[in-house]
Amino acid sequence: MLIPAAQYLTYAEAVTLYNELLNAEITALVKTCGPPSFPFGDGIWYQLLIEEEAAPAAHDLVAAFEARRATVAVLRCPRCQSPDTAPVPRPTLWQRLYYAGTTLHQCAGCGRRFAA
Ligand SMILES: [Zn+2]
Repeated sequence: MLIPAAQYLTYAEAVTLYNELLNAEITALVKTCGPPSFPFGDGIWYQLLIEEEAAPAAHDLVAAFEARRATVAVLRCPRCQSPDTAPVPRPTLWQRLYYAGTTLHQCAGCGRRFAA
């Protein structure tokens, strides 16, 4: 029986974990999950399913992966390297267009705005 090893992964995370499991000779099945995305109808997240017998072997790998995932990457200002940055609450229309697909951040130290 297939059981979920990890859920609500981004595509990049799913690929990373899939490869890590494969290195440990555990074959995982990648499926989408979560609410459907527009316009394709697949889930917007990915999950990895593994055979129930492989679960004990996969446990340590998945636990290590989850720990890494939970560690929030600190976003640093590209100019002054300050970690004190935050998303700009209300970007203007041209900023939203220019930075589409990214989030505009502002550094509290030097005021530099940058996309991340
Ligand atoms: Zn700065």
